[in-house]
Amino acid sequence: MKVIAVISVILVLFALIFPIAACWDSAGPSGGPQPPDAPAGDGGDSLFYVPPAKPQAVRDTETQIKLLVDGQIRQISVHDYLTGAVAAEMPVSFAPEALKAQAVALRTYLARKLLHPSSAHPEADICADSGCCAAWRGEDQLREKWGDDFEANSARIAAAVEDTDGMILSYGGEPILAVFHSSSAGRTEDAQAVWLSALPYLVSVESPESAETVPDYVVSAAFTPEEFCDTVTAAHPEASFSDQPETWIADPVLTASGRLDHVTVGGVTLTGREIRSLFGLRSTAVTFDVTPEAVTVTSTGYGHGVGMSQYGAQTMALRGDSFQDILAAYYPGAELVAP
Ligand SMILES: [Zn+2]
Repeated sequence: MKVIAVISVILVLFALIFPIAACWDSAGPSGGPQPPDAPAGDGGDSLFYVPPAKPQAVRDTETQIKLLVDGQIRQISVHDYLTGAVAAEMPVSFAPEALKAQAVALRTYLARKLLHPSSAHPEADICADSGCCAAWRGEDQLREKWGDDFEANSARIAAAVEDTDGMILSYGGEPILAVFHSSSAGRTEDAQAVWLSALPYLVSVESPESAETVPDYVVSAAFTPEEFCDTVTAAHPEASFSDQPETWIADPVLTASGRLDHVTVGGVTLTGREIRSLFGLRSTAVTFDVTPEAVTVTSTGYGHGVGMSQYGAQTMALRGDSFQDILAAYYPGAELVAP
């Protein structure tokens, strides 16, 4: 009986150890993610750390979601959500590989919303407001926008969605926060610089777009000294301005990507994001030119700068890169998971 008991113990140990070893062998892409932070009290250095499972990728026509649009909840398939969202978020004239990268980013964004519902609209999985979730347009709106090109444009968008059917980007066992923006100023921005929360796949990377390919890439706005100090004083009554405008703006500090982190204006510290908001700028990649007659603020690129640059994706696609190349460049370390 003792021999049988010992053999049983050995068999149980084998059964326990080998599945764990198999998990280690298949974990993560090459050069990909490190194990995520262990839960509190879990002992992150445990020898028997088990990498989390990948999120399951599901075909677009197999899942229905609740979309909040114009105050109404619509139950639609992921396929129909994505065709409306890609059409609303990226110019349909963009290259097929850029449209595919956009489809994967939006599908991933949606998958994360399904796991982490928005407190702004708990009754819906996602909404059609670009200020909250992502923009979305229904067929009627697209027919109106595209006119005679509706059929051809719809086919371009549907191809991008169907060629990437079900694919999402994963990191640490869950869909990544696949944010994107219109265009960057040479480099994308680190998430920590914008939202004070670091994510390993939302770090600053090079982005290849330029003034030759992006409309309104560099935009200057000139304000009279009175307009400038009135705008700042309305938000910060404690700001004080001398009669020498050249002394008003001091000590600009840039983020690692070259965007404005903060700057002293009229003796008050303003973040780059606040400057962007106060003066209606297209980005925080700004420079100032101050004379006694005018304060000129010049911004480069459009958007918060985090994650995929859409014009950068288009530039990469036109030079022959695939949607996988584009996603790997803008979300480094994330793994593409297919159904
Ligand atoms: Zn929303």
